[in-house]
Amino acid sequence: MTDQSSDSARRKLGAAPGLCGTCVHAKLNETNRGTAYLRCTRAAWDARLPRYPRLPVTTCPGFEPPGFEAPGFEAPGFEAPGREGGDA
Ligand code: SF4
Repeated sequence: MTDQSSDSARRKLGAAPGLCGTCVHAKLNETNRGTAYLRCTRAAWDARLPRYPRLPVTTCPGFEPPGFEAPGFEAPGFEAPGREGGDA
């Protein structure tokens, strides 16, 4: 939610997004009618979250800022130290 088009959409939201404003799971969309809405993409697989959160979101169990890496997560192509050499 940081490019220029999303800045325009953010102004049309009608409410401050709160945590969603800096969350990697937030998707901001503009409608043809000149309004905007925020969709939580994490809600597709996390049943705790609403697909269209009521703004502003002040607490959220799914909030993840940019650059956040969940414990145990390994990016594709990355091998954790000490795991080289296969089964031992
Ligand atoms: S995970 Fe929470 S903070 Fe992130 S977009 Fe969804 S509702 Fe907003």
